[in-house]
Amino acid sequence: MLFNEMDINPQIIKALEENQIVSPTEIQEKSIPHGLSMRRSHIIGQAKTGSGKTLAFAIPMIEKINPENPNIQAVVMVPTRELCKQNAAVFRSITKYKKINIVEIYGGVSIRKQIEQIHNGGQVIIATPGRLIDLIKRGKVKFKSVNFIALDEADRMLDMGFLPDIQFLLLDAMRDISPRLFLFSATVFDEIKKLIYSFTKKDMVHEINVSRDSLTVENCDQYAYYIEKNKLWNFIKILNDERPEFSIIFTKTKRNAEKLCNKLNNVSELNFNLNAGFINGDLSQAKREKTIDMFRKKQLNCLVATNVLARGLDFPKVSHVFNYDLPRDPEDYIHRIGRTARVEGIEKNVTNGKAISLVSTDHRVLLKKIEKLLNYRIERRNIPTPLNMKNIPEKYASNLKSSQKNTKRKRKNRINHQISEYNGQKTYSKNRINKKKKKKYYSKNRQKISSSVK
Ligand code: ADP
Ligand code: MG
Repeated sequence: MLFNEMDINPQIIKALEENQIVSPTEIQEKSIPHGLSMRRSHIIGQAKTGSGKTLAFAIPMIEKINPENPNIQAVVMVPTRELCKQNAAVFRSITKYKKINIVEIYGGVSIRKQIEQIHNGGQVIIATPGRLIDLIKRGKVKFKSVNFIALDEADRMLDMGFLPDIQFLLLDAMRDISPRLFLFSATVFDEIKKLIYSFTKKDMVHEINVSRDSLTVENCDQYAYYIEKNKLWNFIKILNDERPEFSIIFTKTKRNAEKLCNKLNNVSELNFNLNAGFINGDLSQAKREKTIDMFRKKQLNCLVATNVLARGLDFPKVSHVFNYDLPRDPEDYIHRIGRTARVEGIEKNVTNGKAISLVSTDHRVLLKKIEKLLNYRIERRNIPTPLNMKNIPEKYASNLKSSQKNTKRKRKNRINHQISEYNGQKTYSKNRINKKKKKKYYSKNRQKISSSVK
Protein backbone atom coordinates (compact mmCIF):
# COMPACT_ATOMS: atom_id res chain seq x y z
CA MET A 1 0.00 0.00 0.00
CA LEU A 2 1.19 3.51 -0.80
CA PHE A 3 -0.05 6.86 0.46
CA ASN A 4 -0.99 7.86 -3.07
CA GLU A 5 -3.42 4.93 -3.17
CA MET A 6 -5.28 6.42 -0.23
CA ASP A 7 -7.81 9.17 -0.53
CA ILE A 8 -5.32 11.91 0.33
CA ASN A 9 -4.79 15.31 -1.24
CA PRO A 10 -1.81 15.33 -3.69
CA GLN A 11 -0.40 18.37 -1.88
CA ILE A 12 0.02 16.29 1.25
CA ILE A 13 1.37 13.29 -0.68
CA LYS A 14 3.97 15.51 -2.31
CA ALA A 15 5.14 16.89 1.02
CA LEU A 16 5.31 13.37 2.47
CA GLU A 17 7.32 12.11 -0.47
CA GLU A 18 9.81 14.89 -0.05
CA ASN A 19 10.45 13.42 3.39
CA GLN A 20 10.86 9.93 1.89
CA ILE A 21 7.55 8.85 3.36
CA VAL A 22 5.71 6.86 0.69
CA SER A 23 4.06 3.86 2.29
CA PRO A 24 2.05 3.96 5.50
CA THR A 25 3.04 2.04 8.60
CA GLU A 26 0.52 -0.44 9.98
CA ILE A 27 -1.11 1.98 12.42
CA GLN A 28 -1.33 4.60 9.66
CA GLU A 29 -2.81 2.17 7.19
CA LYS A 30 -5.46 1.13 9.69
CA SER A 31 -6.36 4.53 11.15
CA ILE A 32 -6.14 6.99 8.27
CA PRO A 33 -9.14 5.57 6.34
CA HIS A 34 -11.31 5.88 9.48
CA GLY A 35 -10.01 9.40 9.99
CA LEU A 36 -10.90 10.31 6.41
CA SER A 37 -14.32 8.69 6.35
CA MET A 38 -17.41 10.87 6.33
CA ARG A 39 -18.84 8.98 9.29
CA ARG A 40 -17.79 11.17 12.16
CA SER A 41 -16.23 8.40 14.16
CA HIS A 42 -13.53 8.45 16.83
CA ILE A 43 -10.27 6.51 16.99
CA ILE A 44 -8.36 4.95 19.87
CA GLY A 45 -5.04 3.88 18.38
CA GLN A 46 -2.40 1.84 20.12
CA ALA A 47 0.92 1.13 18.45
CA LYS A 48 4.50 0.81 19.50
CA THR A 49 6.69 3.82 19.97
CA GLY A 50 8.27 4.84 16.71
CA SER A 51 5.53 3.33 14.58
CA GLY A 52 4.40 6.66 13.12
CA LYS A 53 1.38 7.51 15.25
CA THR A 54 1.78 11.25 14.70
CA LEU A 55 1.04 11.03 10.99
CA ALA A 56 -1.77 8.57 11.71
CA PHE A 57 -3.79 11.46 13.17
CA ALA A 58 -2.08 14.41 11.47
CA ILE A 59 -2.87 13.32 7.90
CA PRO A 60 -6.66 13.03 8.31
CA MET A 61 -6.75 16.28 10.28
CA ILE A 62 -4.85 18.23 7.65
CA GLU A 63 -6.84 16.59 4.87
CA LYS A 64 -10.11 17.80 6.39
CA ILE A 65 -9.06 21.31 7.35
CA ASN A 66 -10.42 24.11 5.25
CA PRO A 67 -7.54 26.54 4.56
CA GLU A 68 -10.02 29.36 3.89
CA ASN A 69 -11.51 29.21 7.38
CA PRO A 70 -9.29 31.23 9.76
CA ASN A 71 -10.78 29.71 12.94
CA ILE A 72 -9.32 26.94 15.05
CA GLN A 73 -10.32 23.68 13.40
CA ALA A 74 -8.15 21.12 15.14
CA VAL A 75 -6.57 20.80 18.56
CA VAL A 76 -3.80 18.39 19.49
CA MET A 77 -3.12 17.87 23.19
CA VAL A 78 0.32 16.74 24.22
CA PRO A 79 1.92 16.16 27.62
CA THR A 80 5.15 18.14 27.21
CA ARG A 81 6.56 21.21 25.52
CA GLU A 82 9.07 19.12 23.60
CA LEU A 83 6.37 16.91 22.16
CA CYS A 84 4.43 20.04 21.27
CA LYS A 85 7.36 21.29 19.19
CA GLN A 86 7.94 17.91 17.61
CA ASN A 87 4.30 17.47 16.63
CA ALA A 88 4.22 21.01 15.25
CA ALA A 89 7.25 20.19 13.10
CA VAL A 90 5.46 17.13 11.69
CA PHE A 91 2.31 19.16 10.96
CA ARG A 92 4.38 21.87 9.28
CA SER A 93 6.26 19.34 7.18
CA ILE A 94 3.05 17.99 5.66
CA THR A 95 1.46 21.40 5.15
CA LYS A 96 4.21 22.67 2.93
CA TYR A 97 1.87 22.77 -0.07
CA LYS A 98 -1.47 23.08 1.71
CA LYS A 99 -0.91 26.22 3.70
CA ILE A 100 -2.35 25.89 7.16
CA ASN A 101 -1.54 27.99 10.18
CA ILE A 102 -0.15 25.93 13.05
CA VAL A 103 0.25 27.38 16.54
CA GLU A 104 2.21 25.93 19.44
CA ILE A 105 0.76 26.55 22.89
CA TYR A 106 2.69 25.69 26.01
CA GLY A 107 3.55 27.20 29.37
CA GLY A 108 6.74 28.82 30.55
CA VAL A 109 6.81 31.42 27.78
CA SER A 110 4.92 34.63 27.05
CA ILE A 111 1.20 34.05 26.58
CA ARG A 112 0.75 37.27 24.61
CA LYS A 113 2.58 36.06 21.55
CA GLN A 114 0.52 32.89 21.54
CA ILE A 115 -2.71 34.89 21.76
CA GLU A 116 -1.51 36.99 18.84
CA GLN A 117 -0.77 33.89 16.78
CA ILE A 118 -4.25 32.53 17.46
CA HIS A 119 -5.79 35.88 16.48
CA ASN A 120 -3.80 35.87 13.28
CA GLY A 121 -5.73 32.84 12.10
CA GLY A 122 -4.37 29.80 13.95
CA GLN A 123 -6.11 26.81 12.40
CA VAL A 124 -4.37 23.97 14.22
CA ILE A 125 -3.43 24.32 17.85
CA ILE A 126 -0.89 21.99 19.41
CA ALA A 127 -1.02 22.48 23.13
CA THR A 128 -0.15 21.30 26.59
CA PRO A 129 -3.32 21.16 28.71
CA GLY A 130 -2.41 23.76 31.36
CA ARG A 131 -1.78 26.67 29.02
CA LEU A 132 -4.70 25.71 26.81
CA ILE A 133 -7.06 25.98 29.78
CA ASP A 134 -5.56 29.33 30.65
CA LEU A 135 -6.34 30.57 27.14
CA ILE A 136 -9.87 29.20 27.24
CA LYS A 137 -10.54 30.90 30.56
CA ARG A 138 -9.33 34.15 29.07
CA GLY A 139 -11.71 33.58 26.19
CA LYS A 140 -8.91 33.47 23.65
CA VAL A 141 -9.50 29.92 22.47
CA LYS A 142 -12.96 28.82 21.44
CA PHE A 143 -13.92 25.36 20.33
CA LYS A 144 -16.89 26.47 18.24
CA SER A 145 -15.39 25.44 14.91
CA VAL A 146 -13.12 22.65 16.12
CA ASN A 147 -13.68 19.45 14.18
CA PHE A 148 -10.87 17.33 15.59
CA ILE A 149 -9.28 16.85 18.96
CA ALA A 150 -6.27 14.55 19.21
CA LEU A 151 -4.76 13.32 22.45
CA ASP A 152 -1.19 12.26 21.86
CA GLU A 153 0.50 10.12 24.53
CA ALA A 154 -2.72 10.27 26.47
CA ASP A 155 -1.63 7.87 29.16
CA ARG A 156 1.36 10.03 29.87
CA MET A 157 -0.96 12.98 30.35
CA LEU A 158 -2.88 10.98 32.92
CA ASP A 159 0.37 10.02 34.64
CA MET A 160 1.28 13.66 34.85
CA GLY A 161 -1.99 14.40 36.58
CA PHE A 162 -3.67 16.06 33.62
CA LEU A 163 -6.86 13.98 33.88
CA PRO A 164 -8.98 16.78 35.41
CA ASP A 165 -7.59 19.22 32.82
CA ILE A 166 -8.40 16.90 29.94
CA GLN A 167 -11.86 16.28 31.33
CA PHE A 168 -12.41 20.02 31.58
CA LEU A 169 -11.19 20.56 28.03
CA LEU A 170 -13.25 17.77 26.54
CA LEU A 171 -16.35 18.90 28.45
CA ASP A 172 -15.86 22.40 27.14
CA ALA A 173 -15.30 21.16 23.60
CA MET A 174 -18.17 18.68 23.56
CA ARG A 175 -20.72 21.09 25.04
CA ASP A 176 -21.92 22.72 21.84
CA ILE A 177 -20.22 20.80 19.10
CA SER A 178 -19.07 17.22 18.76
CA PRO A 179 -15.56 17.12 17.39
CA ARG A 180 -14.00 13.81 16.49
CA LEU A 181 -11.59 12.40 19.05
CA PHE A 182 -8.33 10.75 18.06
CA LEU A 183 -6.46 9.16 20.93
CA PHE A 184 -3.05 7.70 20.23
CA SER A 185 -0.55 6.15 22.58
CA ALA A 186 1.89 3.26 22.89
CA THR A 187 -0.07 2.07 25.88
CA VAL A 188 -3.79 2.66 26.18
CA PHE A 189 -5.35 1.69 29.45
CA ASP A 190 -8.87 1.44 30.71
CA GLU A 191 -8.90 4.74 32.55
CA ILE A 192 -8.32 6.74 29.39
CA LYS A 193 -10.69 4.61 27.35
CA LYS A 194 -13.42 5.24 29.90
CA LEU A 195 -12.83 8.94 29.53
CA ILE A 196 -13.34 8.76 25.77
CA TYR A 197 -16.39 6.54 26.03
CA SER A 198 -17.93 8.94 28.53
CA PHE A 199 -18.14 11.47 25.70
CA THR A 200 -19.00 9.22 22.78
CA LYS A 201 -21.31 6.49 21.61
CA LYS A 202 -19.69 3.07 21.77
CA ASP A 203 -20.36 2.13 18.15
CA MET A 204 -18.74 5.36 16.97
CA VAL A 205 -15.31 4.43 18.30
CA HIS A 206 -12.74 2.42 16.35
CA GLU A 207 -10.26 0.75 18.62
CA ILE A 208 -7.13 -0.03 16.64
CA ASN A 209 -4.44 -1.97 18.37
CA VAL A 210 -1.43 -3.07 16.38
CA SER A 211 0.73 -3.94 19.36
CA ARG A 212 -1.40 -6.12 21.54
CA ASP A 213 0.94 -9.08 21.66
CA SER A 214 4.18 -7.33 21.11
CA LEU A 215 4.55 -4.53 23.58
CA THR A 216 8.26 -5.11 23.50
CA VAL A 217 10.13 -3.04 20.99
CA GLU A 218 11.49 -5.16 18.21
CA ASN A 219 14.96 -4.57 16.85
CA CYS A 220 16.16 -3.70 20.28
CA ASP A 221 18.43 -5.90 22.37
CA GLN A 222 17.62 -5.61 26.02
CA TYR A 223 19.73 -6.57 28.96
CA ALA A 224 20.14 -5.79 32.61
CA TYR A 225 23.00 -5.57 35.09
CA TYR A 226 22.50 -6.15 38.76
CA ILE A 227 24.43 -3.49 40.61
CA GLU A 228 24.76 -3.41 44.35
CA LYS A 229 27.23 -0.62 44.91
CA ASN A 230 29.53 1.80 43.16
CA LYS A 231 26.95 2.37 40.51
CA LEU A 232 28.84 5.13 38.76
CA TRP A 233 32.07 3.24 38.26
CA ASN A 234 30.29 0.07 37.28
CA PHE A 235 28.28 2.08 34.81
CA ILE A 236 31.49 3.51 33.40
CA LYS A 237 32.74 -0.02 32.87
CA ILE A 238 29.58 -0.81 30.94
CA LEU A 239 29.92 2.37 28.88
CA ASN A 240 33.50 1.52 28.17
CA ASP A 241 32.45 -1.90 27.01
CA GLU A 242 29.56 -0.65 24.87
CA ARG A 243 31.11 2.50 23.38
CA PRO A 244 27.68 3.96 22.53
CA GLU A 245 27.53 6.08 19.42
CA PHE A 246 24.37 7.99 20.36
CA SER A 247 22.84 7.36 23.69
CA ILE A 248 20.19 8.51 26.12
CA ILE A 249 20.67 7.84 29.81
CA PHE A 250 17.59 7.99 32.03
CA THR A 251 17.86 8.85 35.70
CA LYS A 252 15.22 8.98 38.38
CA THR A 253 15.69 12.47 39.76
CA LYS A 254 16.32 15.86 38.23
CA ARG A 255 19.44 16.37 40.32
CA ASN A 256 20.88 13.02 39.35
CA ALA A 257 20.56 13.84 35.67
CA GLU A 258 22.72 16.90 36.08
CA LYS A 259 25.19 15.24 38.43
CA LEU A 260 25.65 12.18 36.28
CA CYS A 261 26.07 14.30 33.17
CA ASN A 262 28.83 16.31 34.81
CA LYS A 263 30.55 13.22 36.12
CA LEU A 264 30.51 11.53 32.73
CA ASN A 265 31.90 14.61 31.05
CA ASN A 266 34.64 14.70 33.68
CA VAL A 267 35.81 11.21 32.83
CA SER A 268 35.32 11.67 29.10
CA GLU A 269 38.99 11.15 28.44
CA LEU A 270 38.43 7.50 29.32
CA ASN A 271 38.32 7.25 25.53
CA PHE A 272 34.68 6.40 25.07
CA ASN A 273 34.20 9.82 23.51
CA LEU A 274 31.20 10.81 25.52
CA ASN A 275 29.95 14.33 25.11
CA ALA A 276 26.88 14.61 27.28
CA GLY A 277 24.16 17.16 27.94
CA PHE A 278 21.30 16.90 30.38
CA ILE A 279 17.59 17.58 30.31
CA ASN A 280 15.34 17.88 33.30
CA GLY A 281 12.17 19.65 34.26
CA ASP A 282 14.06 22.40 36.07
CA LEU A 283 15.85 23.68 33.00
CA SER A 284 14.43 26.69 31.24
CA GLN A 285 12.55 26.05 28.04
CA ALA A 286 15.28 27.66 25.97
CA LYS A 287 17.99 25.52 27.52
CA ARG A 288 16.02 22.31 27.07
CA GLU A 289 15.43 23.12 23.43
CA LYS A 290 19.05 24.02 22.89
CA THR A 291 20.27 20.75 24.36
CA ILE A 292 17.80 18.68 22.35
CA ASP A 293 18.77 20.57 19.25
CA MET A 294 22.47 19.95 19.87
CA PHE A 295 21.75 16.25 20.26
CA ARG A 296 19.76 16.19 17.02
CA LYS A 297 22.60 17.98 15.24
CA LYS A 298 25.06 15.49 16.74
CA GLN A 299 26.99 18.15 18.63
CA LEU A 300 26.24 16.02 21.68
CA ASN A 301 26.26 12.25 21.53
CA CYS A 302 24.64 11.59 24.86
CA LEU A 303 21.64 12.97 26.69
CA VAL A 304 21.18 12.39 30.39
CA ALA A 305 17.53 12.91 31.16
CA THR A 306 14.67 12.31 33.53
CA ASN A 307 11.35 10.90 32.39
CA VAL A 308 10.48 14.20 30.68
CA LEU A 309 12.24 12.78 27.66
CA ALA A 310 10.74 9.31 27.84
CA ARG A 311 7.65 9.81 25.75
CA GLY A 312 7.07 10.54 22.16
CA LEU A 313 10.19 12.46 21.26
CA ASP A 314 11.76 11.14 18.12
CA PHE A 315 15.51 11.08 17.70
CA PRO A 316 17.17 9.51 14.71
CA LYS A 317 19.62 6.70 15.34
CA VAL A 318 19.88 6.40 19.08
CA SER A 319 22.12 3.37 19.47
CA HIS A 320 21.75 2.92 23.23
CA VAL A 321 19.16 3.69 25.84
CA PHE A 322 20.45 3.27 29.37
CA ASN A 323 18.24 3.07 32.41
CA TYR A 324 20.68 4.31 35.01
CA ASP A 325 17.67 4.09 37.30
CA LEU A 326 14.75 1.87 36.36
CA PRO A 327 11.48 3.76 35.95
CA ARG A 328 8.95 3.30 38.72
CA ASP A 329 6.19 2.77 36.21
CA PRO A 330 6.78 -0.31 33.99
CA GLU A 331 5.08 1.36 31.02
CA ASP A 332 7.70 4.06 31.10
CA TYR A 333 10.27 1.38 30.38
CA ILE A 334 8.59 0.71 27.04
CA HIS A 335 8.48 4.40 26.23
CA ARG A 336 12.09 4.88 27.18
CA ILE A 337 13.48 2.02 25.16
CA GLY A 338 11.31 3.16 22.29
CA ARG A 339 13.81 5.97 21.82
CA THR A 340 16.04 3.44 20.10
CA ALA A 341 15.28 1.13 17.15
CA ARG A 342 13.12 3.73 15.43
CA VAL A 343 11.44 3.32 12.04
CA GLU A 344 14.46 4.51 10.14
CA GLY A 345 16.65 1.97 11.87
CA ILE A 346 14.28 -0.84 11.08
CA GLU A 347 13.81 0.01 7.43
CA LYS A 348 17.40 0.74 6.68
CA ASN A 349 18.25 -2.43 8.51
CA VAL A 350 21.00 -1.00 10.65
CA THR A 351 22.16 -2.92 13.69
CA ASN A 352 19.79 -3.32 16.61
CA GLY A 353 19.48 -0.64 19.21
CA LYS A 354 20.31 -1.59 22.76
CA ALA A 355 18.41 -0.97 25.95
CA ILE A 356 20.53 -1.51 29.00
CA SER A 357 19.25 -1.29 32.54
CA LEU A 358 21.11 -0.97 35.81
CA VAL A 359 19.17 -2.72 38.51
CA SER A 360 19.90 -2.10 42.16
CA THR A 361 18.96 -4.73 44.70
CA ASP A 362 15.75 -3.05 45.78
CA HIS A 363 14.69 -2.53 42.19
CA ARG A 364 14.78 -6.19 41.19
CA VAL A 365 11.08 -6.41 41.80
CA LEU A 366 10.59 -3.52 39.36
CA LEU A 367 12.50 -5.44 36.72
CA LYS A 368 10.17 -8.39 37.29
CA LYS A 369 7.16 -6.12 36.82
CA ILE A 370 8.60 -4.83 33.57
CA GLU A 371 9.21 -8.35 32.35
CA LYS A 372 5.66 -9.27 33.23
CA LEU A 373 4.33 -6.38 31.19
CA LEU A 374 6.61 -7.21 28.27
CA ASN A 375 6.01 -10.91 28.63
CA TYR A 376 9.68 -11.30 27.94
CA ARG A 377 12.71 -12.15 30.03
CA ILE A 378 15.44 -9.55 29.87
CA GLU A 379 18.88 -11.08 29.73
CA ARG A 380 21.05 -10.53 32.83
CA ARG A 381 24.70 -9.79 32.21
CA ASN A 382 27.78 -9.63 34.37
CA ILE A 383 29.56 -6.36 34.65
CA PRO A 384 32.52 -6.39 32.29
CA THR A 385 35.71 -6.91 34.28
CA PRO A 386 38.41 -4.27 34.21
CA LEU A 387 40.61 -6.83 32.50
CA ASN A 388 38.69 -6.18 29.32
CA MET A 389 39.53 -2.53 29.51
CA LYS A 390 42.48 -1.24 27.63
CA ASN A 391 44.21 2.11 27.44
CA ILE A 392 42.88 3.39 30.71
CA PRO A 393 44.71 6.40 32.11
CA GLU A 394 46.48 5.46 35.31
CA LYS A 395 44.44 7.73 37.57
CA TYR A 396 41.21 5.90 36.71
CA ALA A 397 42.62 2.40 36.71
CA SER A 398 42.66 2.03 40.47
CA ASN A 399 39.16 3.45 40.73
CA LEU A 400 37.80 1.02 38.21
CA LYS A 401 39.59 -1.98 39.61
CA SER A 402 38.59 -1.28 43.14
CA SER A 403 35.04 -0.24 42.49
CA GLN A 404 33.60 -3.63 43.38
CA LYS A 405 35.33 -3.85 46.72
CA ASN A 406 35.36 -0.25 47.66
CA THR A 407 32.88 -0.44 50.49
CA LYS A 408 34.66 -3.34 52.10
CA ARG A 409 37.96 -1.54 51.93
CA LYS A 410 36.48 1.58 53.41
CA ARG A 411 35.24 -0.43 56.39
CA LYS A 412 38.66 -1.99 56.84
CA ASN A 413 40.30 1.41 56.75
CA ARG A 414 37.86 2.70 59.31
CA ILE A 415 38.70 -0.10 61.70
CA ASN A 416 42.41 0.38 61.15
CA HIS A 417 41.98 4.03 61.79
CA GLN A 418 40.03 3.46 64.97
CA ILE A 419 42.63 1.06 66.29
CA SER A 420 45.46 3.42 65.57
CA GLU A 421 43.61 6.29 67.20
CA TYR A 422 43.13 4.17 70.27
CA ASN A 423 46.78 3.26 70.39
CA GLY A 424 47.78 6.84 69.81
CA GLN A 425 49.59 5.80 66.66
CA LYS A 426 49.52 7.85 63.53
CA THR A 427 49.48 5.05 61.05
CA TYR A 428 48.71 1.45 61.42
CA SER A 429 49.97 -0.64 58.57
CA LYS A 430 47.73 -3.57 57.84
CA ASN A 431 50.82 -5.69 57.32
CA ARG A 432 51.83 -5.36 60.92
CA ILE A 433 48.90 -7.21 62.26
CA ASN A 434 47.24 -10.14 60.66
CA LYS A 435 43.54 -10.19 60.04
CA LYS A 436 42.64 -12.63 62.77
CA LYS A 437 44.55 -10.78 65.41
CA LYS A 438 43.01 -7.51 64.36
CA LYS A 439 39.49 -8.86 64.55
CA LYS A 440 40.12 -10.25 68.00
CA TYR A 441 41.71 -7.03 69.13
CA TYR A 442 38.86 -5.01 67.79
CA SER A 443 36.12 -7.08 69.33
CA LYS A 444 37.85 -7.16 72.68
CA ASN A 445 38.30 -3.42 72.77
CA ARG A 446 35.20 -2.44 70.85
CA GLN A 447 33.74 -0.30 73.53
CA LYS A 448 36.88 1.54 74.37
CA ILE A 449 37.65 2.11 70.73
CA SER A 450 34.29 3.50 69.84
CA SER A 451 34.19 5.78 72.85
CA SER A 452 37.66 7.06 72.06
CA VAL A 453 36.66 7.79 68.49
CA LYS A 454 33.60 9.71 69.61
P1 ADP B 1 5.31 7.43 17.41
O1 ADP B 1 4.48 8.63 17.69
O2 ADP B 1 4.51 6.22 17.08
O3 ADP B 1 6.31 7.15 18.51
P2 ADP B 1 6.41 9.07 15.33
O4 ADP B 1 5.14 9.57 14.76
O5 ADP B 1 7.17 10.00 16.22
O6 ADP B 1 6.18 7.71 16.11
O7 ADP B 1 7.33 8.57 14.11
C1 ADP B 1 8.57 8.02 14.30
C2 ADP B 1 9.44 8.23 13.08
O8 ADP B 1 8.97 7.49 11.98
C3 ADP B 1 9.52 9.67 12.60
O9 ADP B 1 10.85 9.99 12.34
C4 ADP B 1 8.70 9.68 11.33
O10 ADP B 1 9.18 10.64 10.40
C5 ADP B 1 8.91 8.28 10.81
N1 ADP B 1 7.77 7.79 10.01
C6 ADP B 1 6.47 7.91 10.34
N2 ADP B 1 5.69 7.35 9.40
C7 ADP B 1 6.51 6.86 8.46
C8 ADP B 1 6.31 6.16 7.22
N3 ADP B 1 5.08 5.85 6.80
N4 ADP B 1 7.41 5.84 6.50
C9 ADP B 1 8.64 6.14 6.94
N5 ADP B 1 8.90 6.80 8.08
C10 ADP B 1 7.86 7.15 8.85
MG1 MG C 1 4.21 9.90 19.27
